[in-house]
Amino acid sequence: MSKTPFSLLTEDEKNAFIDYINAHAEAPTSCSADYLLREWNAQKAHIFKLFGEQLILKTDVEFSQSDDAIALDISQDWREMPENAYRFTESLWDFLAKQKTKIWEEYNARQSKNPEAYTRFEDEKMQPWYQIENLLASEILAKNAVQEEFTIPMPKPDGSVREYRVQVGTKPLRVMRQLIKAYGEEAVGSMDDFNAFCVWHSQFLNTSSIKGKLCFSIHPLDYLTMSDNANDWTSCMSWQEVGCYRAGTVEMMNSPYAVVVYLEASDRKYYMTSDFAWNSKKWRSLCLIAEPGVISVKSYPYYHKEITEFSVKYLADLDTENDYFAPTVFVPYKLESSIAEAELRINPHCFRMYNDFGSTTHFIALKKIYGEGEHSFTFNYSGKSECMSCGELFDADDRQMFTCEEQLSCMKCAGLNGDYVFCEECGEIIHVDDAYWIDDTPYCYTCFSEVGFCDPFTDENHYLDDGTDTVFTLGTHRIELGLVFLPDFVHLNIKEKYKNDIWNQADKEYTTIDAAMLNDRGISDMIWFLRSNAYINCAAELEKIED
Ligand SMILES: [Zn+2]
Ligand SMILES: [Zn+2]
Repeated sequence: MSKTPFSLLTEDEKNAFIDYINAHAEAPTSCSADYLLREWNAQKAHIFKLFGEQLILKTDVEFSQSDDAIALDISQDWREMPENAYRFTESLWDFLAKQKTKIWEEYNARQSKNPEAYTRFEDEKMQPWYQIENLLASEILAKNAVQEEFTIPMPKPDGSVREYRVQVGTKPLRVMRQLIKAYGEEAVGSMDDFNAFCVWHSQFLNTSSIKGKLCFSIHPLDYLTMSDNANDWTSCMSWQEVGCYRAGTVEMMNSPYAVVVYLEASDRKYYMTSDFAWNSKKWRSLCLIAEPGVISVKSYPYYHKEITEFSVKYLADLDTENDYFAPTVFVPYKLESSIAEAELRINPHCFRMYNDFGSTTHFIALKKIYGEGEHSFTFNYSGKSECMSCGELFDADDRQMFTCEEQLSCMKCAGLNGDYVFCEECGEIIHVDDAYWIDDTPYCYTCFSEVGFCDPFTDENHYLDDGTDTVFTLGTHRIELGLVFLPDFVHLNIKEKYKNDIWNQADKEYTTIDAAMLNDRGISDMIWFLRSNAYINCAAELEKIED
């Protein structure tokens, strides 16, 4: 018998799979791993074969550090900066704030001298200080180069001011050093503190490469921990953080296309349970092995061009039966490609998974057979949704089973069956207490306001088609009621004995009603309305009719 993906799981891994569900799903499971993983086992058959009947392929890699990765390190480490280095950033902020305040004060002084005249606020005077503020942004510190030319007014010892031009590519810290020299340590910050800041900054630029094992995985535990790790990053897919799209991990697990690609942390493990440690992911992306080729989705916690490109090529190379073009950037949903003469439309979408297409840079290794002519590909890269408690499989558009994309257990298992209903119009799930009912049909607020109305007589909901736009005439006054569920109007005189009961808010007196629009259900409804609702709710809408 040939191997299946499931046959390669160890007992410990199966137990960890079940334990992780019991720790994080809305309800524990009484199913076996075998049962819960049947869809995964079947859907990954193709990739399993490409992988040479393995669940995880590992390869040693070394890449240069990307600016995005450095920027992330800088921003994460900002609060951990040595005290004196941090003091420099604070004092530079103060200095910049004072410069800006000074410009405002000068402007206000000019303005108050001559309030009548139009005084121009010279925004360009603010620019140098905004630009310097920007040099403290982690993206600029990571690039270690100024991105936009600007000038700074620098005082000279003789009291005059010269314009100091900052060229594109200048090191940000060089600009700060010039600033201290020109304005003085008192104003900008001490040179010692600044040097501490330089030392702190330089450590990020020295970690110039990313080394490690790049893993290509269809292992169930790697889907469950797609965004759970010991490397301090997370996303909306996280199980432990109850990410608002964590059900997407199950669809990726059951998808015939999705592979989890990640850099394994060499120095730490992620403890899925107190006694089961799994690979911790320093960097992670999803890649799809699909038609017309291998496509990268989105990476966390930062985008890295070289790793992404490498991953796509690596996966394409596994497929020895097809020839592929070298990876190229894929712009959803039209492939702008210099590699091929082809006109390609590729439209990847999904169900409960958050569709990341269009929110990052994607790479594609295109099969050469699509290098010419016109081709269009629309595919859903989600596998089936599956309740992690009872294992029931759902076509993911079967919305009846889940309230939202964070839910790992179905409604039945989560014990929510009686609590939620679905809008008849748009299918949105709504708590019963929030639903608008017309007869026995529930609607969400938005749809209800499009199809129905609430009758002011009875407080009952009805369809718009059954309502009549209604105006009551009260002597010389009128009440606009809007829609009322009174299909057949008749013109009636109010019975004599009720005539003096109507309080007319506008004239602060009891009013006499000559006539009123009334339904054929009889006078009692009308009186009920006039005696209670008219006075309480509609008095404010009384409006004098012109003679
Ligand atoms: Zn269930
Ligand atoms: Zn609706």
